[in-house]
Amino acid sequence: MDLATQTHLTKLRDLLSFRLLELRAEVHAAEQAQRELTGASAHEVTDRKDEAAQRLLSDLGGVQEQRDRDEMAQVEAALQRLDTGSYGDCADCGEPISLQRLQVQPAAQRCAPCQAAFEHALDRSGPRHALS
Ligand SMILES: [Zn+2]
Repeated sequence: MDLATQTHLTKLRDLLSFRLLELRAEVHAAEQAQRELTGASAHEVTDRKDEAAQRLLSDLGGVQEQRDRDEMAQVEAALQRLDTGSYGDCADCGEPISLQRLQVQPAAQRCAPCQAAFEHALDRSGPRHALS
């Protein structure tokens, strides 16, 4: 590994560590808000419209929180790969992920072509909320 790559990796590690702290704070804040919301709806909500609005809010919060948790897992995995030295290799084809891509998405697990194929496969597997 050359010096330039080493420098980039140090920067990417900083980015990832910072993002992880941000996400932890976000998830924590979301949990807090959720708790307050639940508390508030139990005591203060009187008419049905408010209740529906509260439920909607809390659903949206849940989606955002889930997204944060997913990203947090990816960031943690990326930091782990940095430690083990496998960082920057595509999880599917094993080729190095371009630095350009890593700078935009430090937690990326796949090179651009493999990621595209992966997302395509997800699309083809159909809607995930079949019951809704
Ligand atoms: Zn690949």
